[in-house]
Amino acid sequence: MSSQSSESVPEQMLVDVLTAEEMSVYCVYEPDLVDPFPEIPARVLARRGLLRRIQSTQAEICRLQAMQYEAVAEFAGKAEDRSAVARELALALAISPRMAENQIGLAEALVSRLPETLKAMQRGEIDAYKASKIHEPSAALTDEQAREVDAIMAGRIDRKDPSGLRRSTALAVARVDPDGYARRCARRRARRGIELVPQGEGMVRLCADIPVEVGAAAYARIDAEAHRRRRVDMSKTVEQYKADVFAELLLKDTSGLTVGPKAEVFIYMDVYTWLNLNTKPAEMAGQGIIPAWLANEIANGTNTTLRRLITDPDDGQIISVGRRSYRPPTALARLAYARDRECRSPICHRPAQVCELDHVEAWDADGGETSYDNLASFCAKDHHIKDLPGWSYTMDKDTGEITITTPTHDQYTSKPEPLHEPRNNPLPDADQPPPF
Ligand SMILES: [Zn+2]
Repeated sequence: MSSQSSESVPEQMLVDVLTAEEMSVYCVYEPDLVDPFPEIPARVLARRGLLRRIQSTQAEICRLQAMQYEAVAEFAGKAEDRSAVARELALALAISPRMAENQIGLAEALVSRLPETLKAMQRGEIDAYKASKIHEPSAALTDEQAREVDAIMAGRIDRKDPSGLRRSTALAVARVDPDGYARRCARRRARRGIELVPQGEGMVRLCADIPVEVGAAAYARIDAEAHRRRRVDMSKTVEQYKADVFAELLLKDTSGLTVGPKAEVFIYMDVYTWLNLNTKPAEMAGQGIIPAWLANEIANGTNTTLRRLITDPDDGQIISVGRRSYRPPTALARLAYARDRECRSPICHRPAQVCELDHVEAWDADGGETSYDNLASFCAKDHHIKDLPGWSYTMDKDTGEITITTPTHDQYTSKPEPLHEPRNNPLPDADQPPPF
């Protein structure tokens, strides 16, 4: 408890929370929760008032989200080209294309197949996140089946948390469409896969979508081995052992020998960092910043095919090959990739090495050159959108900034982050002792 707590409550706070009239306005959400108990201490009442206010603002958020999602559905419905509509929304809200796609999917389901869920949002009972827990499990159903699930869920929404809603919806789905549920399980298992999610601060999360019995067995094996090691050596926690065992098992070759990472990973580091002359963080393509010590360890490690790209931009290397060649030569491509590092759409972070180098000003139609200042990295999806009607891209030749104009005539800019701060004194002074 705070040492400042006292029996008296600031008058302002009481005025804020106490009048029954105010309560009835604030608590549209659940008016019967208002207890006019004069015997409750003022301090308790003040906190309860704050909780009521949190609930009432939450209800307001739910109602506002209902309005927003209705607008999203209408916006998507009016789009001339469906394939780019998520990109337009993502740029407007500065969110990832995946988030925008999810918003559009939920919005369209709410207005067409989940009317009771939408009404619950409009009444302030559930927000978009909770609504998504009804939408996702029912997404594979026909419209008619989805409305049936929606009607069942209408009576089950009250006071459920998001996981409770998801579980309850999954049950309703299995009841409404038992054969489809069985078929989808089989199909879902066919769509197994893994994902690498950047976590920052030198860490990454490796996730796998695998059949439930495989996942449970794999986890049990890792868990047992981690506990066995912990009994022998207490210097690491069980969680640390689990992570180590997991990685070790994955890095064994077919003969059971542990091998080093073999995949091609690109690391951008300052030449001075590489030479241990400074400790600036380096960048791992698509994964973000890693500390200098780790970059050095990786860049100088054995048995890896990590590519280090030492950044010391030299204007002399930038060559324009003009109109004679459509495909950029390797050196030019490497420079453009090194500058961009990621897809140049401001809402996309795919590593440049898996992107296509594209002529910002089209090579065939507009006479664009195959040169450093007319080439930019775009992933396949953004490359496709760039050529759709209503979209236009221009690149500032001096700054490298790309301006994207969307079908609604809105403009967004994208500029690659500098690899490092400009140096006034680029070379370490030869007369000075090295800083290590
Ligand atoms: Zn992209």
